[in-house]
Amino acid sequence: MVVPAVMLPVVGSLHGLRVHRPASVAEVLDLMEQYPEAQLVAGATWIMRAPMRAESLDGSVILLAGVAGLDECAVGDGAEFGAMVTLKRIAVATAGISSLQALHEAVSRAATPGLRRMITIGGSIAATEFHASDVLPALLCLDAEILRDRGLILGVRIPAADRVSCHERLTWRSGNEYSVATVSMSLLPTSGEIRVALGSVEQTPRRWTEVEQELTQGPLTPQRAEEVAKAHLNVLRPIAAPGIPADYRLSVIPTVLARAVGRLA
Ligand SMILES: Cc1cc2nc3c(=O)[nH]c(=O)nc-3n(C[C@H](O)[C@H](O)[C@H](O)COP(=O)(O)OP(=O)(O)OC[C@H]3O[C@@H](n4cnc5c(N)ncnc54)[C@H](O)[C@@H]3O)c2cc1C
Repeated sequence: MVVPAVMLPVVGSLHGLRVHRPASVAEVLDLMEQYPEAQLVAGATWIMRAPMRAESLDGSVILLAGVAGLDECAVGDGAEFGAMVTLKRIAVATAGISSLQALHEAVSRAATPGLRRMITIGGSIAATEFHASDVLPALLCLDAEILRDRGLILGVRIPAADRVSCHERLTWRSGNEYSVATVSMSLLPTSGEIRVALGSVEQTPRRWTEVEQELTQGPLTPQRAEEVAKAHLNVLRPIAAPGIPADYRLSVIPTVLARAVGRLA
């Protein structure tokens, strides 16, 4: 049953914001229609940094915590995660499943342990301005499908496949910081099909299809992967950040790809 929008619960006001706390997906969709400017709030780890991006939160927010069905998690050879499943929960659910290894490593290494308990998979997909996502390259290399209803991400489905995969991220020091360059990679040993996805290089994570195609045409070795990567750096548009020149990102990608290939070959 769809609850009429006028009856939807408003929790109250917080710093002048109207805070809505729907209980079902139907209620969320009704609220989104009634308050088109409203922000959806999942783990709030992107939203809490709005002032650093000189963005303001006005009007209404719609809290997704507690919405029935969005926190469901099913893992077998493939997997399905509701949008509100946190990185921590995904890390636990995917441990030891080789076909989902890239995702397991991505969600186990992103950010910090405390943040991984808050960050959701839906918020990670929707925060498209965040260049250093670990989650998106992993999902791209596993052919994940995003489940949506209008502007609401409902979850993610990863098809079952007999693949091996891994996630390599390069940081200045150790963990707990943004990656300088990330490669998520998968291989279907039976067909030789390869996926290579990049994060932290361009403004948005992407598949590197030129490299995927060339890698399938010869032996899969770290040395060859490095050469193939160098031959296709020209298609990338790396971003600069304080302390990380764009050229530096380009210079390390062949090494990061070679490490990933070394683990899968
Ligand atoms: C210090 C710090 C370091 C981090 N480092 C990393 C890292 O190394 N690797 C990494 O992968 N991530 C990292 N993150 C997380 C990343 O930057 C984003 O903050 C996070 O992915 C957002 O997820 P969230 O659940 O908190 O979303 P929120 O902040 O709640 O929302 C993010 C955006 O998505 C929208 N949204 C949320 N859920 C939905 C939905 N179901 N449907 C439609 N729209 C939705 C919101 O309206 C908002 O625009 C880091 C975060 C912090 C604070």
